[in-house]
Amino acid sequence: MNAALVYIVAMQFIALMLAAILAIVWRTYERPRHALTWAIAFVIAAVDRLLNTTLRIWQLDDALLYDIVAAVGCLFSALIAVGFVQRAKPGASSGRLVARAVLAVGLVAFVTSLFPYGQIHDGIWLLFGGTMLAISAAQVIGPVPSSTLPERATARMLALFAVADFAMAAVAFGAARNGGAASAELYRTVLVLLYPPIFIGVGLFAVLLVAADLAERMRALAVSDLLTGIPNRRGFEEAAERAIRNAQRQRQPLTLVVSDIDRFKAINDRYGHVAGDRAIQHFARRLERIVRRGDLIGRIGGEEFALVLVNTDSLDAMEVVERIRSDVAAVAVEGPDPIVMTASFGVTNLRPDDVTLANLFARADRALYRSKIEGRDRVTCAEKMELATSPHGKTWVTSDRG
Ligand code: GH3
Ligand code: MG
Ligand code: MG
Repeated sequence: MNAALVYIVAMQFIALMLAAILAIVWRTYERPRHALTWAIAFVIAAVDRLLNTTLRIWQLDDALLYDIVAAVGCLFSALIAVGFVQRAKPGASSGRLVARAVLAVGLVAFVTSLFPYGQIHDGIWLLFGGTMLAISAAQVIGPVPSSTLPERATARMLALFAVADFAMAAVAFGAARNGGAASAELYRTVLVLLYPPIFIGVGLFAVLLVAADLAERMRALAVSDLLTGIPNRRGFEEAAERAIRNAQRQRQPLTLVVSDIDRFKAINDRYGHVAGDRAIQHFARRLERIVRRGDLIGRIGGEEFALVLVNTDSLDAMEVVERIRSDVAAVAVEGPDPIVMTASFGVTNLRPDDVTLANLFARADRALYRSKIEGRDRVTCAEKMELATSPHGKTWVTSDRG
């Protein structure tokens, strides 16, 4: 067996292995359609290698056959790009994407057939492969600036592969122009050196992306509340601790608010648990409507919520929370029986000696408790409460009810 054949057969095994891995990844991890497309792409790559092996074993020298094999190889690159588009645009129709990929390959095959057989054909096919890799790279980064490390790494590797493909195309075109044996030899060497890393790299990075996406989804699930979609206690605390560190570093005010729906057990008892759930969802939506972007919301318990208002002192926070309080009391929960509910709130601001979030929570909880015992449906500020209980303090602690 000559070296070229060993090389092609090895690549064929690798293609089948990558196809199998991607198919398993697809089946095991929630069946993302792009993983299946990539698996199919590598099956096509294996077929492409098989055809290549056949041509060499039978020493077929038909130009058309070689072009067909090259077109199959291009279908591989096109499907890889389709997978990246599918991942970036979940709404895009798979049928239309695949049709467009097949059409593109057909078009390039037609253009190629206009030139006399030779390295100019290789150049065109390589140009196509490079373009598909460049499209793939652009899809990973996409319009969103907040890309993850696996995404950035994948995009860079794909871009590098695209450049390598373009470079190989340039060498092929050069060889076609000179017609010299030396440049043809150079072309083959570059191809043999660059093809395996590109080919295997695309497969490995595809697997990495699927795994990274899944890990990201799991992480997001672990910190978010299923009923309301807002962060759960863990997610809220993580974000709040970051916000506190930021505020302390930049010496900016920050306010923590805790709130608890009033007499919620009675709502459950009267309207049923499903309606109770709807009321909790409604409460989360009202909070989201009123707070600013950059503020934090969390469901920290059954019908208990917390807010971090960044760059806001407790005076301004009282105004915001008062607005939330009156909004909750005014807007009924939608459903068969419109439920009107109220909530109580405790507010405290970040102090220079606050070391942990727990310090703030303890004060805000005391203020919330005060709201409850003073009749519910009200907002209490921990700082004012302390002033009132100190010998020189005022006597009012809770906000006026609307
Ligand atoms: P208070 O005004 O003192 O807060 O009275 P309350 O009845 O709201 O008392 P408490 O806060 O102790 O009651 C919370 C109730 O919320 C108890 C629990 O049955 C209910 N609950 C907790 N989580 C959920 C949930 O996810 N869905 C529903 N429907 N009810 C929940
Ligand atoms: Mg409660
Ligand atoms: Mg309650």
